[in-house]
Amino acid sequence: MTELILALDTGSRIEARKLLEDLAPLVNWVKVGHRAVCELGMWEITDVCAAFDYKIFVDFKFHDIPSTVRENVRILTHYGVQMTNVHTMGGKTMMEAAKAIRNPPIVLGVTVLTSHLISIESVIKLAENAQSAGLDGVVCSPLEAYAIRKACGDDFLIVTPGIRPVWSSTDDQARHARPRDARAADYIVVGRPILEARDPISATKLILEELHG
Ligand code: C5P
Repeated sequence: MTELILALDTGSRIEARKLLEDLAPLVNWVKVGHRAVCELGMWEITDVCAAFDYKIFVDFKFHDIPSTVRENVRILTHYGVQMTNVHTMGGKTMMEAAKAIRNPPIVLGVTVLTSHLISIESVIKLAENAQSAGLDGVVCSPLEAYAIRKACGDDFLIVTPGIRPVWSSTDDQARHARPRDARAADYIVVGRPILEARDPISATKLILEELHG
């Protein structure tokens, strides 16, 4: 069953704690990016996630020389991070380096940002490159999830941001879809439809109902 990952795109410690406490009965995963990590700090994030039993996905989209990427991923394991990602455009050696440590986390390849419009064939090719470099899965838009599932098989993880229920704004997401149209994914990532909702708990419940209904 497709799981929900909360994109904790906030710089407010108070807002982050309240959200994580409120959503703990509904959500198991939190995604943090540069904003949350710079504003809150990794120890604060690991502390609050441990308190409410969340798994952590660090979305830094690494794109650097292989040795730098390998060491970046290694550092994340010191914080107990369970999932991270690299750009597939960084090439095979860089992707292989991200997994070349003892007990690596789940490493996903970012195909093409969901704020860009692009052909489905290009995204599938990048997903196949990620798979042959030994990555665990990819981040793609829900519009490509079925095609990637067919090309890469059931064991390859598919994580889709760009989720927009009919009642929320599309914001800057160009390749987006409703929760019910993202069921080919293993995980959906949702930020603003929850963070900017008047009632984040109800918004989360609505998304989960549509996803699993
Ligand atoms: O607010 P929204 O639901 O659009 O948040 C989506 C999250 O997923 C953001 O944190 C964004 O950085 C991230 N993301 C994305 N597209 C990608 C990779 C990550 O939107 N391809």
